[in-house]
Amino acid sequence: MKILIVEDSRSSLLLLSQYIEAFGARAVPAASGEAAVAAFAAEQPDLVLLDVVLPDIDGHEVARRIRAIEGEERWVPIIFLSSMAGDEDIEKGIAAGGDDYLIKPVSEIVLGAKIRAMQRIVRMRAALVDLTRRLDAANNELKRLSAIDGLTGIANRRQFDERLDQEWRRARRAGGSVALLMCDIDYFKQYNDRYGHQAGDDCLRRVAAAIAQTMERGADLAARYGGEEFSAILPDTPLGGALFVAEKIRHAVHQLNQPHAGSPLGRVTLSIGVASLPADAGQTCEALIQAADQALYRAKHEGRDRVCRAETAVA
Ligand code: GH3
Ligand code: MG
Ligand code: MG
Ligand code: MG
Repeated sequence: MKILIVEDSRSSLLLLSQYIEAFGARAVPAASGEAAVAAFAAEQPDLVLLDVVLPDIDGHEVARRIRAIEGEERWVPIIFLSSMAGDEDIEKGIAAGGDDYLIKPVSEIVLGAKIRAMQRIVRMRAALVDLTRRLDAANNELKRLSAIDGLTGIANRRQFDERLDQEWRRARRAGGSVALLMCDIDYFKQYNDRYGHQAGDDCLRRVAAAIAQTMERGADLAARYGGEEFSAILPDTPLGGALFVAEKIRHAVHQLNQPHAGSPLGRVTLSIGVASLPADAGQTCEALIQAADQALYRAKHEGRDRVCRAETAVA
């Protein structure tokens, strides 16, 4: 343990240094306020014993400067030493950033006890800082996990709902539009029936990865909507652009060449419904979902492995 002793009287400094060394700590001396601030920065002591009356800047100012340079992460206890024993002197010392106040002459036993008490607080504070840091990390991880679909690793339904709401409100402020893709794997029940659920899950992972890889814009979001349904939010995208992205996704899944003997199409394919709506007062994002759903229904009806646009879409 390293203790910075700030004291301009040579005899007091010597005595305090002896106490500190007897206590088993290392004493770093400073005879003026400026020297104390410099030594604090250079030596990084664990505790400061600070005389109030000094030849240059006073102890209160030294305490303020120490508090300013120690930063938020660190806290070093400061114990004032003074022969001024008035209530106001003590009050001023604590207000300046001191943690305790000892009246001179200081007894060796009291000094040792005070140092021990401060060490205890330092340890408790360090444990608290560490715990807070670990809680923050755990919180961030929980937040990340709560937005991710466990099976496929892409955004989950919760993140989808949040983002759609957010993008819809943003588009309304900016007078823009939002496009939505609803994708559904064709004949997936038969896929499970024929290849088993484990293979079905693997297939879902591959399809999710193909969808996510196809989307290039940072603002776009691909999510698992539920079961074997996926959705994509494309902010600020007119219908033409959304149809282009949908066709790229359909093609990417087709190109996976994932055999599907239970499907008349012979491989795993995707049907996609596309809608784009201006986010104005007459529209809601529920209407957008409904429009994309209806388009998906038509894509299924018209033979699957295809992209259909919503008939009601205006944008
Ligand atoms: P369609 O071409 O009309 O979409 O036919 P489909 O069989 O894909 O449609 P349906 O909605 O009838 O069936 C969806 C099936 O998807 C039901 C279930 O067997 C399967 N499924 C849904 N979620 C999961 C999942 O998490 N894992 C696996 N392995 N299968 C799932
Ligand atoms: Mg003095
Ligand atoms: Mg389905
Ligand atoms: Mg399906």
